[in-house]
Amino acid sequence: MMSVREMKIKELLVVVLLVFVVVSCSKDSDPITPEDDVVPEVYSKIYGTTSEISLDGEFVLIKTNGTPDHKSAYYASNNALYEAYNGTTFGGGNFAKNPNEIAAQSLTFKIPLNPSEATNKSATSLGPIGVAINGVALYNQYAGPNNQALTGEINSFDQYYGHPTGTSQYHYHVEPIYLTTVKSSKSGLMGFLLDGFPVYGPEEEDGSKISSSDLDAYHGHTHVTADFPNGTYHYHFTSDAPYMNGNGYFGTPGTVTQ
Ligand SMILES: [Zn+2]
Ligand SMILES: [Zn+2]
Repeated sequence: MMSVREMKIKELLVVVLLVFVVVSCSKDSDPITPEDDVVPEVYSKIYGTTSEISLDGEFVLIKTNGTPDHKSAYYASNNALYEAYNGTTFGGGNFAKNPNEIAAQSLTFKIPLNPSEATNKSATSLGPIGVAINGVALYNQYAGPNNQALTGEINSFDQYYGHPTGTSQYHYHVEPIYLTTVKSSKSGLMGFLLDGFPVYGPEEEDGSKISSSDLDAYHGHTHVTADFPNGTYHYHFTSDAPYMNGNGYFGTPGTVTQ
């Protein structure tokens, strides 16, 4: 026979269990419409993620470790992806390796699912302003710490035009040529900025080359692309400054945590 006390404890456990079941069930039945549940197909082009791309309300969550899937002189010499520098620098000067080395990061990009033009545009900051399809961070046209021109840093870009920071975060400021020549094409989707608008390579799908003078102050324009048959605003990489983004975000930026 159970004592009264034991029975009370049993009853309490049953109540706790019931409450737990009710709470979990109500979480499952949040009012989500089917289309809200689905990450749009275009995001499947981002292959360099550490977990499945998901939605968080009106935002797309993209998690990456930020390391390039191509060889680099900035990998540790015992890394399979290490390769001594060979090639032609972005600026045509002599390669000048910086003292930093690539290391895995923990980056979470939270970008608007339905981007729109911001009424008040905001400037980009130093650090990640977007994510490339291989999971590498995209940086703006400046060098730290005081937004000076990139001129002094360009010769430190590796054979695929990226380099790591002092915190070992690899990134691209300019056309990621591994993506435009190996993984995709000069007119392919290269990634997204934090405002949710896509970034394309330096050519249009008809093969025409884009330069900064073809674009607005934010370094983009609007038209139909294969990925966006209804048209979208998008940025382009160009070989001339500011290379990917101009006066800031065209839309309202989401966030990046690192
Ligand atoms: Zn840099
Ligand atoms: Zn375009």
